[in-house]
Amino acid sequence: MLKKGAKKLLRAVGLQRAQVAAARMAAERTGLATLSANRSDRTGGRILAYHSVSQPQTGVNDVSLERFERQLDLLTDLGFEIVPASTIAADGGQPNQVAITVDDAWTSAAEIIAPVLRKRDLPWSLFVVSQWSDHTDEWTRDTILNWDALKRLQGEDLEIGSHSVTHPDFAKLARSEIEHELQASRARIEACLGFAPTSFAIPFGQSMNWTDEAQAIARQTGYDVIYAQAENTRHPATIGRTFVTKFDNDRIFRALLNGAFDNWEEWV
Ligand SMILES: [Zn+2]
Repeated sequence: MLKKGAKKLLRAVGLQRAQVAAARMAAERTGLATLSANRSDRTGGRILAYHSVSQPQTGVNDVSLERFERQLDLLTDLGFEIVPASTIAADGGQPNQVAITVDDAWTSAAEIIAPVLRKRDLPWSLFVVSQWSDHTDEWTRDTILNWDALKRLQGEDLEIGSHSVTHPDFAKLARSEIEHELQASRARIEACLGFAPTSFAIPFGQSMNWTDEAQAIARQTGYDVIYAQAENTRHPATIGRTFVTKFDNDRIFRALLNGAFDNWEEWV
């Protein structure tokens, strides 16, 4: 049985189906890696979407520190160049280019991910849920970075973008709610961190979580780049990202880099 707080947290991050979904996801990742491990017809760069490292509260989204470092080693061994996500977003990038992005601003982004990447002198992006970083919800206080922590994290190697106010499913929102989630998160980041972000990562990020209306409002709000969390199935005006899961061992991660999961979505 999960404790009450943990249940609330799982609900908040959309993992209410965590146990069944995790078993299914593990099977899908292994199966697809076997079937299509050698497929590679990619012409552009690849943006990886992480959530947390060695912070198991995020369930299937969490990657262990050992595995995260191993994945960075693999990227180097395989000849990839790690560039800012904005570089790939700008013109598609090159097939040997990869970017690291991190969603939600879990505490491990500052405590584990930033030190690992900075030691290796690698650029990265972080997408912040403004109300979570306000720490108004009790569950966020020990799990999510607040604005002071984000301020300390700021640096030339890090691009910070918006990930909405409350992490909703945009497909279920009224127009006024879409406007609020996009505008108020941007304004809050500007007030707290001193700049208005021009990139936005779609909460949940799958094809079903974004609409033409949301895309148009996002552009009007001032976001130049809108990142999905899917590749071939994403909204066509968004930039694709490849989701890295808890189950991605060396073999699955190599398959992922070869496109084995480019038609795969987490929640469908
Ligand atoms: Zn998220």
